[in-house]
Amino acid sequence: MTAGLHAGAAAAPALAGGRGNVLELDAVTKIYPSSPPVTALRGVNLTVQAGELVAVLGPSGSGKSTLLHLTGTLDRPTAGTVRVTGLDVAALTDRELAGLRATRIGFVFQQFFLAEHQTALDNVADGLLYTGTGLAERRERAREALRLVGLADRPAARPTQLSGGQRQRVAIARALAGSPAIVLADEPTGNLDSATGQSLLALFRALHQQGVTIVIITHDRAIAAAMPRQIEMLDGRILTDTGHTPPLASRSGEAAERLAGFPQAGTP
Ligand code: ADP
Ligand code: MG
Repeated sequence: MTAGLHAGAAAAPALAGGRGNVLELDAVTKIYPSSPPVTALRGVNLTVQAGELVAVLGPSGSGKSTLLHLTGTLDRPTAGTVRVTGLDVAALTDRELAGLRATRIGFVFQQFFLAEHQTALDNVADGLLYTGTGLAERRERAREALRLVGLADRPAARPTQLSGGQRQRVAIARALAGSPAIVLADEPTGNLDSATGQSLLALFRALHQQGVTIVIITHDRAIAAAMPRQIEMLDGRILTDTGHTPPLASRSGEAAERLAGFPQAGTP
């Protein structure tokens, strides 16, 4: 595996990490080889710095999910360069990419994707299976992550015993447990009523204040408007970008401790 891809340090690498770009897209084009072929991204340039909270807004079909799949290394570009934490995705083997995903990227999806028969704690802990962490530490980190999302008192709950908003909080905890360099969320409030969506939004903003780097994809203009940086897509292109915003938290070694002390948010 590429040096520097180890899950390693107990402290959150994302929070303790250096400055610079967590994400760099350079002239990225994606053509799906369907018949007829579909050009989903057309020469997209984008950088996201550590500590940013970014909304990607655009109508259905504008290329938002494709952008997320490429930045999440779930797919490769047809042309152009994708770099995650400085690593060129094209230069990595599939195995190395899996390592990169497991240790540096946290995913949140509209459909939550939780294992129904497993507890909230184990849903979160299993997100760390591929990091080489032992079970006791996985559970310890999972407990910590559940605390971050305001579910410290529900570790034993099965997803079926939780509300939609709480399920998404478990999914967010799973994304955070590995202390990723970036959290990518694709329509995280898409399956939730607007009050629950607002409360999740508050959670994302609180995480941002603790130094977590987050990109949220949405077609909801009101949600995007609540984010410090907004990127608008149309027809595979970035139409507008309000530009880099300074991180709110200093990413010192103490950041993880502050995260640990983060007050519990409400859990509707
Ligand atoms: P959004 O998330 O903004 O709705 P997508 O990135 O999902 O947009 O899709 C962008 C375009 O690419 C759309 O025209 C969509 O139909 C097309 N597309 C997405 N995935 C595939 C695929 N696997 N094969 C062919 N076309 C696809
Ligand atoms: Mg989409």
